[in-house]
Amino acid sequence: MKSPKNRLSLATYKEGVLKGDRVILSRAITLIESTLESDQALADELIREILPYTGKSIRIGITGVPGVGKSTFIESFGSLVTSHGHKLAVLAIDPSSQRSGGSIMGDKTRMELLSHHPKAYIRPSAAGTSLGGVSAKTREAMLLCEAAGHDVIFIETVGVGQSEIMVRDMVDFFLLLMLAGAGDELQGIKKGIIEIADAIAITKADSGNEAQAKRAKLEYSNALHLFPLAENGWTPQVKICSALENKGLAEIWDMIQSYKIQMIERGHFEKNRKDQRVHWMHEHIKHLLGLHFYQNEKVKALIKSIEEKVAKEEESPIAMAKMLLNTYHQA
Ligand code: GDP
Repeated sequence: MKSPKNRLSLATYKEGVLKGDRVILSRAITLIESTLESDQALADELIREILPYTGKSIRIGITGVPGVGKSTFIESFGSLVTSHGHKLAVLAIDPSSQRSGGSIMGDKTRMELLSHHPKAYIRPSAAGTSLGGVSAKTREAMLLCEAAGHDVIFIETVGVGQSEIMVRDMVDFFLLLMLAGAGDELQGIKKGIIEIADAIAITKADSGNEAQAKRAKLEYSNALHLFPLAENGWTPQVKICSALENKGLAEIWDMIQSYKIQMIERGHFEKNRKDQRVHWMHEHIKHLLGLHFYQNEKVKALIKSIEEKVAKEEESPIAMAKMLLNTYHQA
């Protein structure tokens, strides 16, 4: 980790970010990702300072299992978005990097074209010890990107677990990429994720492969109709696309535009964002409480032996949780 000596002043970060300086934007994101206490204090101030300049974007969550074609889709779809004059930022949440040290998203160079595009900014996954922590950092990185003038934000996840639910709570629109001809189980997609999608895009519908994609479209449309209508009145849609052949991408962009217009008209766009802000505060309280608890010296001294007792059923998990919390409160 870099020493705080490499840090800039609050004013330099703020001005750099607001000017859209990519180098400073990257350094500001590194600052918010830091676990050093002095960095966190500066990061909190920076976020407070840039807050009035955030929010003027469409935030899009993009998810799907490894191999579904996320990076290829983001490359082509992102190029379409930038060709409309938008400034795009792509952020990733990769939960695998915490567990295995490796990455499901892969070490291969992803989104080669987009990463060199002057109107696109790509930031790989934040490192962290807990998903809650990583998500909080991704959310703040998103705010920094908005302050730097990025008016379209993609947040990418791998579609296999909890991170999707967290991403749903920080974006305006949630897009699920699916393959045609593979069952949900095969794709490792949890039913709950289909339920939170605003749209499903069937990928790799190249010329010659459309029939299968159209069948999949029908199946998913039928499945989506079984879910109750969302409170915001939006009916989730199913699209087919080929990122390789640049097909169907404009329709997906038009759909997202139309979603935004409808949500603004119905007052749901801002309501959703308001709810999300409050939700994130509560999520962060839980995250911080957990962090403080496990950093507590008395808890640290006890936890291993208690874990063993619970594992051997010498003590009950619930009773031990209460006992450890009491220890924490008395410390
Ligand atoms: P990710 O793991 O979800 O990011 O998937 P990738 O974007 O790396 O794509 C996985 C594989 O599918 C790669 O070999 C891509 O070339 C291929 N692929 C992605 N999009 C398409 C497409 O539209 N058509 C075809 N035929 N192949 C695609």
